[in-house]
Amino acid sequence: MTANMVLIVDDEKQNRDQLKQILNSRYKLAEADSTDKALGMMYRNVRQLAAVIVKLGAVHGNLDGYRVLTQWNQDKIISGIPMIAAVGQFDTQSMSRAMELGVWELLAMPLELQLTYFRVKNVIERRLLRVSDQARQSREYDELTGIYNRKAFLCRTKEMLCRYPRETFAFVHLDIYQFHLVNQFYGMDEADRLLQYIADRLAFLSRESDHFTYGRDRADVFCFCMPYEGKASVMRMIKKVHDEINQYPINHVLMPVFGICTADHTEQQMVAVSDRANLAAKQCKGNYIKNYAFYDYSMTEQLIKEQEIVNAMKKALADEQFQLYIQPKYDLRKNRLAGGEVLVRWHMQGKGMVSPGDFIPVFERNGFITKLDRYVWEHACQSIRKWLDEGKKPFPISVNISRVSLYNKDVADVIHGLVKKYGIDPALLHLELTESAYTGNLEMIKQTMSRLQAYGFCILMDDFGSGYSSLNTLKDIVVDILKIDMNFLLNSEVPGRGENILASVVYMAKCLGMPVIAEGVERESQAAFLRSIGCDYVQGYYFAKPMSLEEYEQLAFGTNI
Ligand code: C2E
Ligand code: CA
Ligand code: CA
Repeated sequence: MTANMVLIVDDEKQNRDQLKQILNSRYKLAEADSTDKALGMMYRNVRQLAAVIVKLGAVHGNLDGYRVLTQWNQDKIISGIPMIAAVGQFDTQSMSRAMELGVWELLAMPLELQLTYFRVKNVIERRLLRVSDQARQSREYDELTGIYNRKAFLCRTKEMLCRYPRETFAFVHLDIYQFHLVNQFYGMDEADRLLQYIADRLAFLSRESDHFTYGRDRADVFCFCMPYEGKASVMRMIKKVHDEINQYPINHVLMPVFGICTADHTEQQMVAVSDRANLAAKQCKGNYIKNYAFYDYSMTEQLIKEQEIVNAMKKALADEQFQLYIQPKYDLRKNRLAGGEVLVRWHMQGKGMVSPGDFIPVFERNGFITKLDRYVWEHACQSIRKWLDEGKKPFPISVNISRVSLYNKDVADVIHGLVKKYGIDPALLHLELTESAYTGNLEMIKQTMSRLQAYGFCILMDDFGSGYSSLNTLKDIVVDILKIDMNFLLNSEVPGRGENILASVVYMAKCLGMPVIAEGVERESQAAFLRSIGCDYVQGYYFAKPMSLEEYEQLAFGTNI
């Protein structure tokens, strides 16, 4: 709604009539002859009022013009209305007071027709300009930091790229790794101050180049765009931004992360450029050594691959595209098969086999792993049931429990429910929990594990030695079998060191009464070494690769073995 009403505040009818005569061709007019009426009308018509003209001078009857002005000056609700004071021609004292209180314009009485008309008109137009300026301001600038918001930044950047069509630019995405910790430890106000500080430093650094745009994208994400004169020039700027941010007086190491991609005037969509820089920045999350990454196309390919996985996963489960494979485990002392580990395989429609290394991490991120885990557990139980029904004597097989599944506090009952449903002995279904699963809510995990053990399940600590606190975990958590991946240990640069550690771990496990399985055994020499140090079980390509259920059945129950 455009404000088009002018309120005339004067206790003399004759003055009001005169103003009405000057203004009524153009504006809707309202009148008040007392302070209270004037203020009442102002509060009621804040949005309609284009201006108020108040007469000042000696206080007559019920009108105190100064009171109207003072109230207007002090109360934000009405202070946005343009105020014009009508003052006696020689009353310089009133004029100064009015100016002091911030009136937009003065009218000298007796009023001169034309002049008055234009003065009022100018005030109203000035106000319109101000309103549209404010609207633009709030459309383009970020409220907290006062710098461009995402939309305006992308727009200005696009303009800059087009203005310099011969130049290449570096578009940089900047955010603070684990910014939520600043929020958590120091509170929102401090975090806001930090964001304002970053915006301020970007503004400061922007002066280094004529061609430099910057803005706040969202939350703790800022972007800037500068001329690209080789990677080194970008690195120099990144270092400056990094150092400036770390000057912020806070007792916390701030880790800015930078994703960079190049762009020029041919870019159609700035949003796509920003996505590329964002993707590059994601590569450094959790990487304490490298806090920047330049975008390359493989990152988009990876994203597309992940998206394909996400798009296909639900249908794949319903269509039973996931298959169970089993990798045999062997008893080293008795030299015979001792069971196997169930490993899932995905025959993706139109794509062929996808490796678990590609899809399990994606499922762990989006939570779908809990569904897949359940699917695998259930199918494993079905196989065991089938073998029992066929009169076979199956060895235990183990299934993996992802750490995401472990966060479900009912997981013990879910697994127990499955063995009950298929009427099988829990001892036939071993459970592999990867070592890193034991971080996080340790108390809850301990409870889940003891429930599972009480139900009769045997728990393996998978990938022992791969995490940061393997021994520490072992101190707190009672597992039944230790599973060590040889590859973690034997890649040591010092010959013999990995072997010594392995021997000590096997010895330690023996002292704790825990059998050990070594996985990833690829060579005969490794098998011989494991036997020599008293390792109980082995699993690895040297003995057998993961195989289909039919092949495993042949191996485990076939007449030729
Ligand atoms: P993991 O549980 O540590 O499984 C062992 C991995 O090592 C398997 O890879 C296996 O094929 C591979 N492997 C076996 N022997 C050797 C060897 O001698 N040398 C080498 N280099 N590798 C060997 P796979 O099947 O690709 O599985 C990779 C990971 O995916 C698994 O690691 C596990 O974390 C996850 N995964 C696989 N199947 C499932 C599943 O059904 N559920 C869950 N939650 N995770 C699964
Ligand atoms: Ca495993
Ligand atoms: Ca493993």
